[in-house]
Amino acid sequence: MRQNTLSIHSENILPIIKKWLYSDKDIFLRELVSNACDALNKVRIVLGDEGEFKISIAIDKPNQTITISDTGIGMTEDEVEKYIAQIAFSGAEEFVEKYKSQTEKDPIIGHFGLGFYSAYMVASKVEIDTRSYLPHSEPVFWSCDGSSSYTIGAGNRDARGTKITLHIDAESTEYLEESKLRELLDRHCSFMPFPIELNGKSIGNQEPLWLKSPTECTEKDYLSFYNRLFPMDPDPIFWIHLNVDYPFHLQGILYFPKLHRRFDSNESTIKLFCNRVFVSDNCKDILPDYLMILKGAIDSPDIPLNVSRSYLQVDKNVKQLSSHISKKVSDKLNLLYKNDRQKFIDSWPDIEMLVKLGILQDEKFYERVKDILIWKNSQGEWAPIDAEQKKVFYSTTENSPLLKLYKEVIFAIAPIDTAVIQFLENKLSVTFQRIDGALDESLIDPEKEKTLLDAEGKTEASRIAEFIHKTLGDVEVEAKSLASESLPALVILDENQRRFRDYIHLTQGKKGDTKKTFVVNTNHKLIQAISRLHAKQPEAAASLAKGIYDLSLLSQKEVGPEDLGPIVARQTEMLEKISALIS
Ligand code: ADP
Repeated sequence: MRQNTLSIHSENILPIIKKWLYSDKDIFLRELVSNACDALNKVRIVLGDEGEFKISIAIDKPNQTITISDTGIGMTEDEVEKYIAQIAFSGAEEFVEKYKSQTEKDPIIGHFGLGFYSAYMVASKVEIDTRSYLPHSEPVFWSCDGSSSYTIGAGNRDARGTKITLHIDAESTEYLEESKLRELLDRHCSFMPFPIELNGKSIGNQEPLWLKSPTECTEKDYLSFYNRLFPMDPDPIFWIHLNVDYPFHLQGILYFPKLHRRFDSNESTIKLFCNRVFVSDNCKDILPDYLMILKGAIDSPDIPLNVSRSYLQVDKNVKQLSSHISKKVSDKLNLLYKNDRQKFIDSWPDIEMLVKLGILQDEKFYERVKDILIWKNSQGEWAPIDAEQKKVFYSTTENSPLLKLYKEVIFAIAPIDTAVIQFLENKLSVTFQRIDGALDESLIDPEKEKTLLDAEGKTEASRIAEFIHKTLGDVEVEAKSLASESLPALVILDENQRRFRDYIHLTQGKKGDTKKTFVVNTNHKLIQAISRLHAKQPEAAASLAKGIYDLSLLSQKEVGPEDLGPIVARQTEMLEKISALIS
């Protein structure tokens, strides 16, 4: 055996690696199993299917060790020197240099070629027993306790392959539990291309469907694969199979899930793999928010998984990957819209969030989906906005009494619609007006509006408006001859103020008020009755006017829970007065 010193300049590299390099200790297993996998892949390339291909992991509790053995390509002594001692440590040096010059502390492994050294997150000493596949090669033994010197020399391994022995340190004994390792292996290694055993029992290995060609996959395959990934979910509605070779490698299947309204959680559900090794279920820094609604798996060796977030955001591959996926998503949606309109409409509740968020977040996505952004209208039809129209009336509820006043209204019910409408107003030369946002001229009967003046020079309409205004206090009141006779009154909320109020409510959770105008319909029997009554029975008339105002607020959802008590009290008082009148 020889003693050697690691060829690095920094003496205390391992403590730094331990402290800064890995935020999550669990990953040591995935790193070592991936190395074993690589080694098996390499030997298969040179030798074909000769010999055994497997990875065995064993826990030895009494000796506090975990071993990871493979029947892969193995290493000669030179290779151990070169790949383990020198390369890894030059990677570590690079890391230290980088670490010195920046405050970010979350660069990780692969980028620096330090996967093997993640072992030191859980081990105080690591040993390698290896034997190269090459004929006449000698077994090699390497050992290092995390200081800057290591031992290397002749080993005693008979067969080709490598065994890594981790002497688990006192803070990491949880990894000596079989259940803990099994959980990690199930999570990270269930799509690996070689059989894996833990303490002699095999880990359920699955074929990753994303590696198959889309033409070979049936609908049943896709659904059952989804089911395996997300066992608690209802079936997805449709999916895209990604298969890119150039300019980057990417394979994957992304599903459009059924949104479970009750549990709409923030769970990230695109599983990220790198050559079949599960890396993370957090693609937050790789994909824009709107694509995170999708569920499934993507596998790409080209995503620099192990670097900091700010690096990811400017990485060319990552950008191309996002725009590729976004393009595939919009293609799929356009195709469905064209070929199966009914299914598209039926799926809308599940996909509208993706489409609308995408529109707001990604200009290019907007251009691709603008013609399939559909809205339901008051006739029950679904269609995109006609950009030729000057004004579009919309309602934020499907059961507003004001709907009766308009010929066509679109429903913009989702909370995100406020932002989408604002966005569309800037894009199209269309004005969107909420049905309670202004009294549109088209709603007024121009003939009946010309009422005769009375002796005081006032119209009957303005007299009634004045009376109601006095009754209600600081609410502006207008009396109009509406074309429709079905609605006694409505409340108009200043559109700009209301938008601002909704915005403040959405962003800060604060309540606000808007200017309200109470419009009474002089063509409605009830208003005509108040008009007749107010000279003779001013109290009953005032009570009725308040009652109608309250009802309008209620039906337009402009009251809060705290208003209900006073409203009920006023309604009761009004009924009392009316019953006194008629009894
Ligand atoms: P990376 O895997 O990113 O290259 P590592 O530090 O994990 O970095 O490993 C360094 C090198 O050591 C590998 O590229 C490989 O050549 C060698 N190596 C590590 N583990 C094994 C193994 N189980 N069998 C054979 N070679 C290995």
